[in-house]
Amino acid sequence: IMRELCLVTGGAGFIGSHLVEALLAAGHPVRVLDDLSTGRASNLAHMSPAPELIRGSVTDPVVVERAVKGVGVVFHLAAVASVARSLEDPLHCHGVCATGTLNVLDAARKHGVRRIVYAASSSAYGPASDPAGQDEDTPLQPLSPYAAAKLAGEHYLASFAASYGTETVRLRFFNIFGPRQRADSPYSGVIAIFTGMMSEGRAPAIHGDGLQTRDFVYVTNAVQALIKAAHAKGVSGQVYNVGTGKSVTLLDLVAALNKTLGTHLTPTHGPARVGDVRYSLAKIARIRTALGYEPTVSFEEGISRTVEWYRSG
Ligand code: NAD
Repeated sequence: IMRELCLVTGGAGFIGSHLVEALLAAGHPVRVLDDLSTGRASNLAHMSPAPELIRGSVTDPVVVERAVKGVGVVFHLAAVASVARSLEDPLHCHGVCATGTLNVLDAARKHGVRRIVYAASSSAYGPASDPAGQDEDTPLQPLSPYAAAKLAGEHYLASFAASYGTETVRLRFFNIFGPRQRADSPYSGVIAIFTGMMSEGRAPAIHGDGLQTRDFVYVTNAVQALIKAAHAKGVSGQVYNVGTGKSVTLLDLVAALNKTLGTHLTPTHGPARVGDVRYSLAKIARIRTALGYEPTVSFEEGISRTVEWYRSG
């Protein structure tokens, strides 16, 4: 099990490239399937040994079959990870996120893959805004085509576990951030945007009062959850939140960036955004118990590592 071949779809992207790095460091041979639409080959270029890169789309069943051959674990991260793009082209988003996931599952089932781990999204909870947080039983309300397509993928994972005995685990990521994240990310793009503005001495622009909260998760913690989900026993068919259990306001974020950058910038406030989720916070009791997951990199440490990366780039 330790040295089985791992396939990372979306492995040239932000979270995927960090996962590839960790798997290689643990001695796994790694194959990446990525169409490089938002991912970059350069995200993988520094790695040694190098992962095998198949440049192709999860929407192409022939390519997907080739990619899963001989694989023990599939980490399925390929997606159109953008609410804005899903609104412009919902059919494309569905093709990649929903049909693409079905392609991966069907090929994995036929080729005897041991387990599929899926990067699901907290967007499944929609406008749920309880300041006490969301657990996995919080009612699902996918409001965007992106949230709907990612959730359709989730349902296919659950159905394959039930129908074929294929081992599947779903991880609902909250707001993951860190090096290599693009500023247009719907999740933590705000960190990339504010870091950029504040590094140039410009005041960050907040929509509303800045007291809206997010559960910002440094990417190393998400990678820990992905790898634990690949190995834990008795978890097939299950879904787990991936967060820190701590909420951070946008004003806290600005303060952390001011501290790290050594700046004293006061944010400007514009009108609140329509439909903006007020309070987002992961309850993580279930993943703690089932996977032994425990976040190791704090928000502050994550911010300082991310700022360092922006400075070096
Ligand atoms: P990303 O855009 O960096 O990663 C997505 C990767 O998938 C990219 O490398 C892209 O090139 C690739 N891809 C896109 N379409 C493809 C296709 N048709 N075939 C093959 N590859 C394709 O974004 P990310 O933030 O690293 O997201 C990774 C996964 O995590 C996604 O599934 C996303 O929905 C999920 N997620 C991310 C967050 C977050 O906070 N970043 C939160 C919840 C869920």
